[in-house]
Amino acid sequence: MDRILKQLIQLQELHFTLLEQRTLVPKGQLVDLENSIRTLMEELPPKIATLYRALQERHLAAVVPEAKGTCSACGISLPTSLTAEVIAKKGIRQCPNCMRILYPFEGTPRQLKRDLKETGKPRAGIARFSSAELMLSGIEAEDRDDAISELIHLMAEKEFVENPEGLLAAALRREAIVSTALDHGLAFPHVRGVEGGGMTFSLGLKKRGFRFDPSQIRLTRIVFFIVIPSAVSVFYLQVLSGLIETFREESARKQLLACKTSEEMWTTLKALTQKTIP
Ligand SMILES: [Zn+2]
Repeated sequence: MDRILKQLIQLQELHFTLLEQRTLVPKGQLVDLENSIRTLMEELPPKIATLYRALQERHLAAVVPEAKGTCSACGISLPTSLTAEVIAKKGIRQCPNCMRILYPFEGTPRQLKRDLKETGKPRAGIARFSSAELMLSGIEAEDRDDAISELIHLMAEKEFVENPEGLLAAALRREAIVSTALDHGLAFPHVRGVEGGGMTFSLGLKKRGFRFDPSQIRLTRIVFFIVIPSAVSVFYLQVLSGLIETFREESARKQLLACKTSEEMWTTLKALTQKTIP
C-alpha cells in the first residue's frame, strides 16, 4: 500500500508539473510528461486510478498530507482512529469531509508559525507571500543546487520553515522532473505540500547570471524559491503567472536586478507586481 501511495503522490506531482508547464511555456512540448503520467496511471490498480481521476477533477490536489490529526486541504479534524490508520499506511484512506486521499505527514518539511501580518495592517498583493527579510540581493552560489540551498537556508534562518535539508531534497526531486528555469533569466524552484502556513517565497538575484539548468545555454539571474501548502496548489499557478507577466518585461528585470539591498528589492518587487498580483 505504501507503494501505491507513493505512486499517487508521484502522479499528482507530474500532473501539477504538467499544469505548471502549460502556464509557463504554453507552446512547449509536453509529450514526455504526458507519457509518464499515462504510464503511472496504468500501473495503478484500476479502482484506485478511477478514484484518483474522479477526485482530481474536483480538487486538483487529490492526495494531501494528514497534518497533526487534520486534513491539510479542508482543515477538518480527523477521527483519531483514521489518523492512526493513515500514519500506519493501512490502505488508501480518505478524508471524511472532502474525500481526498490522505498520506502520512512523516518527515515532510513544515512551515513554522511566522506571521506575515506582523505590521498590524492586513497585507495585499505580493506582500502576502514574502517580506524584505526573504530577499537576497546577491546569490553567492555558482550552480543550481547551491543557489536553491541558499534561498532555503535564508527561509530557515528567518524561521519560516524547518528542515532545510529535507526541503532541498524535495526541490531537487521536482527539478529532476523538468527544470523550473524559464526564459528571461527566471527560475521558480519550489516544493509542494509544505503545510503549516501560507504560500511563502524567498527571492535571490545573481546579477551576472549562472547556469541554473546545466543543459541550457541561457543564464538565470532571478530565482524565486517557493513553498506551497497543498490547499493553495491552484492559487499558486495564478501567482506564478502574475510573476511571469511582470518579469517578461525587460524593464522590470532591470529594475529588480539594479537593487542593492533587501529592502530595495522588496519595495521594487511590490511596486512591479501591483497590477499582476492584486
Ligand atoms: Zn479534507
